Amino acid sequence: MIDEEIAKKARAVFLGVAIGDALGATTEFMTTHEIKAKYKIHKKMRGGGWLGVKPGQVTDDTEMSLAIAQAILTEEKWDLRAIADNFLAWMRNKPIDIGATVRKGIRNYRLNGDLEVPINHWDAGNGALMRMAPVAIFTLGDDQLLTRYSLEQAHLTHNHPLSDAACICIGKMVHAAILGADRFQLHAMVRELIAEHKTFRFNNYKGLASGYVVDTMQTVLHYFFSTASFEECLIGVVNQGGDADTTGAIAGMLCGAFYGLESLPKQWLSKLDKQVKIEIETSSDTLIRLSPWIAKGSHIHELSGDLWDYHDQGYVVAITTNGKVSNTGRNVMARGTAKQAAEHFPTLPETLGALISTSGNHVYDLGNRLVSFPVEHSPWEVPDLHLILQSCRELRTLADNNDWQKIIVPRPGCGGGGLAWKEVKPLLEQHFDERFRVINAVKQ
Ligand code: MN
Ligand code: MN
Repeated sequence: MIDEEIAKKARAVFLGVAIGDALGATTEFMTTHEIKAKYKIHKKMRGGGWLGVKPGQVTDDTEMSLAIAQAILTEEKWDLRAIADNFLAWMRNKPIDIGATVRKGIRNYRLNGDLEVPINHWDAGNGALMRMAPVAIFTLGDDQLLTRYSLEQAHLTHNHPLSDAACICIGKMVHAAILGADRFQLHAMVRELIAEHKTFRFNNYKGLASGYVVDTMQTVLHYFFSTASFEECLIGVVNQGGDADTTGAIAGMLCGAFYGLESLPKQWLSKLDKQVKIEIETSSDTLIRLSPWIAKGSHIHELSGDLWDYHDQGYVVAITTNGKVSNTGRNVMARGTAKQAAEHFPTLPETLGALISTSGNHVYDLGNRLVSFPVEHSPWEVPDLHLILQSCRELRTLADNNDWQKIIVPRPGCGGGGLAWKEVKPLLEQHFDERFRVINAVKQ
């Protein structure tokens, strides 16, 4: 995918926030019955609501996102204190709306200079989640940065495990969707969140759309996975009422990343506050330019989850292997992904052993959408960076020749092998393009 397309997706993410915010402001704190009685279906930029906004006017959700964006743009890097200062300046300007937890957090910074509020088990609001757009755009291409910055910005005002988990999950989904993930892949990321925190389950959606981060996530996820366009999803979400501007903002962020800029309805976009629209466009362009994906040209797209789920989804799976052939002619597949592969496909050690014996320790198409990816010469020595680089080159060639579109590779040599991801990653970057995914697969 070329950079220009990525930049358009980034704009869609941030504009999606503003559209959802402005649209939802009308129905914030209303019940579905009240909305039906008043509008039948609310689907126009009409303003109003309990805050009495103008059509296309945004609220704290968008304003706080812009405060983060401006701090990054001014400093040209992540600077948490600059973000806190912008929050404080924003609060002093008497915003149209401000959440109680946000106010408390900013006040805590003003009084004590603290960049982190204490853990609060009673307050799992959606206030940190609603401002994730600039963080996701700015960290595109680096999962670890996303996680770190998400938590840092969140903890300025919200410090709760469920808020943390939601911020990281939505951030990762936005990353993946910008880079072209399909619905199934996004759903797998949600399943991972639910495996960790069952409370986020959203099948059997009960229609709760409050500012509690679990209700908010369920609302957004329910509509995202049960609709087929930006417009349809957003209409569903804001007609649910409750914290409609915030569920709208978060749904807009995700739908913007998934459906792209052309999917934003013109009649909504044209009503959006002009100044805000311009500010969002210029800041999202700069944020994406500063992101690892564009700035470092780091085109390594990282995924998490189970390697074999991706195999089920049609990916070609690389298994990290060594060059050792036993005296029965079988490749030694005793650890990690190789061991798992041999359990799934019992003839594999023999097949690979024969190939290595005749043609050496290389990347081979093993059938069943499996390829070998040599990282070491024998299972008893440390992985060899030269060999890994060679494997990257060979896998790239094999993918080109076979026209494979989806290939997934475990972090080579980083599991039992003991290499650090940061020393291996640059090798992969030389050969892997957007068809490749890297997964942090097996813990030894
Ligand atoms: Mn709001
Ligand atoms: Mn709200």
